[in-house]
Amino acid sequence: MSDTYSTDIPSWSQLLVDAVNKPGVIMKAYSAFHNYSVGNQILAIVQCQLRGLQPGPVNTFPGWDALGRRVKRGERALTLCMPITRKKREAESGDNGEPAEEARYTSFVYKRRWFVLSQTEGEEFIPPEMPEWNGERALTTLNIEVIPFDSTDGNCQGFARKRQIAISPVAQLPHKSLFHEAAHVVLGHTAEGDFSDGEQTPRNLREVEAEAVALLCCEALSLEGAEYCRGYIQNWLYRDIGYNAEAIPERSAQKIFRAADQILRAGRLQPGENEK
Ligand SMILES: [Zn+2]
Repeated sequence: MSDTYSTDIPSWSQLLVDAVNKPGVIMKAYSAFHNYSVGNQILAIVQCQLRGLQPGPVNTFPGWDALGRRVKRGERALTLCMPITRKKREAESGDNGEPAEEARYTSFVYKRRWFVLSQTEGEEFIPPEMPEWNGERALTTLNIEVIPFDSTDGNCQGFARKRQIAISPVAQLPHKSLFHEAAHVVLGHTAEGDFSDGEQTPRNLREVEAEAVALLCCEALSLEGAEYCRGYIQNWLYRDIGYNAEAIPERSAQKIFRAADQILRAGRLQPGENEK
């Protein structure tokens, strides 16, 4: 059985655009595959949809075996992606003498070795409960401090500075603003400068990245705000170049999935743990 990279796997930017354009995809993916990274959740749900498989818990052949279940005859494994993060050398810089944008880079290895519950048979399987998510915990885990909102700009929903964020007391959707501002920090934007987010925010790629992370988080946790993010990102995708998945660079799409994953994981309560 081959478990190497398969060329029929869509790019991360295609998966992201898919998730942006199809409401509900992320929520379904998160509830079925929350033990996996957000990128892999979308990857898994896309393959399930293509093959008409019922989305559900995923495991490897030996993983299912250990749970008393066998993979049914003739079932083809799903392909998921394993990120490998390496550090770049400190002094590395671009041709123009500016410092390198990130000190770390991630490469991805695709493996075909996972099976969804409906591809297996055997002992009854009780899926683990969906963990609760807590915003305060997420910020603590991510080492992000909430500071008082001191902007006098009435359109400003929040801002991020270094590892601090502030949410306007009159923000329309405070949790969405929290995801957006935390995303600026996690994506590394605030290491480059200060951010102030109002309705007139320039529609640069950094804003789309932060808004896409907010979309993934809102949808995964079934919180209000995904539609707002969706509208913003779609508008951006259509702008100038027309609808085009390539409008989101592959590297940005990877960063977006990774940041959403970090934020979601950081806020998860472990099973049996009580929320304060
Ligand atoms: Zn922003």
